[in-house]
Amino acid sequence: MTSTVPDLPVVVIGAGPVGLAAAAHLTERGLPFLLLEAGDSAAAAVRQWGHVRLFSPWRFDIDPAAARLLSDAGWVRPDDDKLPTGAQLAADYLQPLADLPAIKNSLRYGARVTAVTRLGLDRVRSLGREQTPYLVRLADGTDILARAVVDASGTWGMPNWLGASGIPAHGETAAAAFVEPALPDVLGRDRDRFAGSHTLVVGAGHSAANTLLALAELAGQAPGTTVSWAIRATNPARTYGGEAADALPARGALGSRLREHVENGTITLLTGFSVDRVTADGDTVTVSDGERTVTADRIVAATGFRPDHTITGELRLDLDPILGSTRALAPLIDPNEHSCGTVPPHGIDELTHPEPGYYAIGVKSYGRAPTFLLATGYEQARSVVAALAGDWEAARDVRLDLPETGVCNSNPVEGDDTIAAGDGCCGAPASADAPSVDAAEPAGRGLATGIAGGLLTAPLNLITLGDKPSEGRAGSCC
Ligand SMILES: Cc1cc2nc3c(=O)[nH]c(=O)nc-3n(C[C@H](O)[C@H](O)[C@H](O)COP(=O)(O)OP(=O)(O)OC[C@H]3O[C@@H](n4cnc5c(N)ncnc54)[C@H](O)[C@@H]3O)c2cc1C
Repeated sequence: MTSTVPDLPVVVIGAGPVGLAAAAHLTERGLPFLLLEAGDSAAAAVRQWGHVRLFSPWRFDIDPAAARLLSDAGWVRPDDDKLPTGAQLAADYLQPLADLPAIKNSLRYGARVTAVTRLGLDRVRSLGREQTPYLVRLADGTDILARAVVDASGTWGMPNWLGASGIPAHGETAAAAFVEPALPDVLGRDRDRFAGSHTLVVGAGHSAANTLLALAELAGQAPGTTVSWAIRATNPARTYGGEAADALPARGALGSRLREHVENGTITLLTGFSVDRVTADGDTVTVSDGERTVTADRIVAATGFRPDHTITGELRLDLDPILGSTRALAPLIDPNEHSCGTVPPHGIDELTHPEPGYYAIGVKSYGRAPTFLLATGYEQARSVVAALAGDWEAARDVRLDLPETGVCNSNPVEGDDTIAAGDGCCGAPASADAPSVDAAEPAGRGLATGIAGGLLTAPLNLITLGDKPSEGRAGSCC
């Protein structure tokens, strides 16, 4: 252990889109790094939802530094206006990036990080802390020293519980065999588990919407397939989103299609349903909110994800008590106040913890806020790496290369990967049914969802102990 801190590599955790972007920026800056990926290929988490089409077109999915490195190696950039699937994002962009010699030589697969600390110092020791290398421990017991750690390990490995109170519902663990994680490949490799069965989807985000649309399609193909959908909110407005008013047309189209399936009865919607108990009973499973019950063959838990802070338990992190992001980032992304990706550009200053040299970036940086966009993560990576290179001017010159009012000169073609020119432009009236956008609301930079107010402002039926749920209590403002 003779290395001094400046000679050590920067360790990047996770070769997902944002970890690989950090690697691209480190390559351009000539800083030595080690990229540690738990999976056996790049984008291991993205591949899990490879059958899902992104709602943002290629132009927002590629990091600029990565594009420069790839282009120098003869890569042909995908059509900016097309919508890739997760599998295409991995195959046509992320794996080629990981395979560039400058990155591949510094990338280790099968390298799961289990802990990050300071060499010889626990969290309590202050003396000499900033001059002490980071110690990164892998699952196989290997210890790696680092001058800084960029944690882009995402949240995919930490799904939320079905239980409405943030902890497992009664019986949830015992009924685990009936519960599918988010985004099963309903029309592909997992089809047999859903065809001819009754599936209950729990959750109100884009993962739920994607799964519900796939199940509705399956219901039209496989007799006996039925679909129920339980949400805590008393109305599904959040999931339907801005529809025609969404700055990302593909995102808006999901909501419109879902609304049609609910209205025509293909999907049975239960609103105000907070999961309290899950009971396995032979071949079926019953879910209760304390008042109503639903019996199904399978449950899909599309309840979102949370960051795993256990690996950094010995670091001095100043985490926001609500979201688990940094405190400075939290007010910009709080889903109680914000509906979407209209997040101001942010970088090193918003991502800094009391522990100098540790930065969480990518979807992990947002903690439990569900509104992360790749373009935001790429700018985080650029800013953090510039700071690690000592280029504070560039680090603080944060920009977000997204339109302020969105890509609103296009409409998605349903079931296709193209965005055709159409009349859903800026200024054109949104569909009569779409929730209105407050014209007085200051424009954020980003891709507005077209939903006014915060994502979590719909009222909930709150669970009460041993009593009926109380009606329509708002979780927060509005
Ligand atoms: C279905 C779906 C659709 C989405 N669509 C869009 C979209 O259209 N546009 C958009 O901008 N965003 C979209 N997102 C949001 C977001 O951009 C993605 O979640 C994106 O994958 C986040 O990138 P990331 O690099 O931060 O994390 P991840 O992609 O989750 O990558 C994290 C990586 O870290 C690895 N890892 C985890 N733990 C460890 C460990 N302990 N040690 C080592 N390695 C580890 C994982 O294997 C993984 O490869 C979507 C998300 C989902 C789930």
